[in-house]
Amino acid sequence: MVIVMEPYATEEQIALVESKLTERGFSIHLSRGVVRTILGAVGDRSRISFEFLEALPGVEKVVAILKPFKLASREFKTEDTVVRIGKERIGDGGIQVIAGPCAIEGREKYLEIAQMVKEAGATILRGGAFKPRTSPYSFQGLEEEGLEILAEAGRLTGLPVITEVMDPRLVSLVAEYSDVLQIGARNMQNFFLLREVGTVDKPVLLKRGPSATIEEWIMAAEYIISSGNPNVILCERGIRTFETYTRNTLDLSAVPLLKHLTHLPVVVDPSHGTGKWRLVQPMSLAAVGAGCDGIMVEVHQNPAEALSDGPQSLTPENFQQLVGGIRRMKAAMKANGI
Ligand code: PEP
Ligand code: MN
Repeated sequence: MVIVMEPYATEEQIALVESKLTERGFSIHLSRGVVRTILGAVGDRSRISFEFLEALPGVEKVVAILKPFKLASREFKTEDTVVRIGKERIGDGGIQVIAGPCAIEGREKYLEIAQMVKEAGATILRGGAFKPRTSPYSFQGLEEEGLEILAEAGRLTGLPVITEVMDPRLVSLVAEYSDVLQIGARNMQNFFLLREVGTVDKPVLLKRGPSATIEEWIMAAEYIISSGNPNVILCERGIRTFETYTRNTLDLSAVPLLKHLTHLPVVVDPSHGTGKWRLVQPMSLAAVGAGCDGIMVEVHQNPAEALSDGPQSLTPENFQQLVGGIRRMKAAMKANGI
């Protein structure tokens, strides 16, 4: 349930409500707005009555949340969550451009592409060090060496960095090197991993599982937030359908839907979402039109030789063109009040 406090309720009034709830086994998540504080209470509702809570001083109303997700819901937090990533912010109405190769393939190569994507307008740098590959015989990533290269590229370019963590045992290691922890599509319902990244003080980008419903996806975010980490970014990366011309089917309706249901920032990954580099630019623009907070795209110096995901990777030139298109599209939307 959500307890909406009256405007300018005092700290004592908030503390009293909190103590009544914690005494009865509820866990409390506070959302402080400029004038109003909202308490999200998760626990057994039969242990306290709404009337009792509503009678407490400073309480305006108590609202039951019937949806299975609570902390991620708009009912709990009406304002958009803005996640800080280094000097960048995501969810504030702008567009973050996350770019880089699928995998970090070597130091020289990665430092070069990092510089290239920065010059072309990327605001956050991506690169996989631990790769979730379908085949155990495919390139699995440079692992810790890859993390070192990623962090070095971040320092040299001044861009924040993001990389995937696949194993709960590696969360603290990856968090030492990366500004954002990525949970890959295949791990969206790895609940031990979700709980582990929930204990870390780093933002988490949570990709949609290839067969996950919107509700299952938001429930995965709920795991992370309820474990203590409110800085979750959702990333639509396509779902599996009967269609085979594209690698996945990019569900852009998820963007406005998530914006309605949750307060979390939403990113779109048209690279994995389509699997085809030719579709990346048009689907990125469509994602911006749908109201996303950022896009994530794969870029490689020489896509034909990439160790993973070459067919969906843009060249640096194509990426530069894409960034120009995104910036113009966003400016046109702002100028027209969209
Ligand atoms: C990736 O971003 O490199 C990746 C493996 O993505 P996904 O988890 O969406 O397949
Ligand atoms: Mn990839």
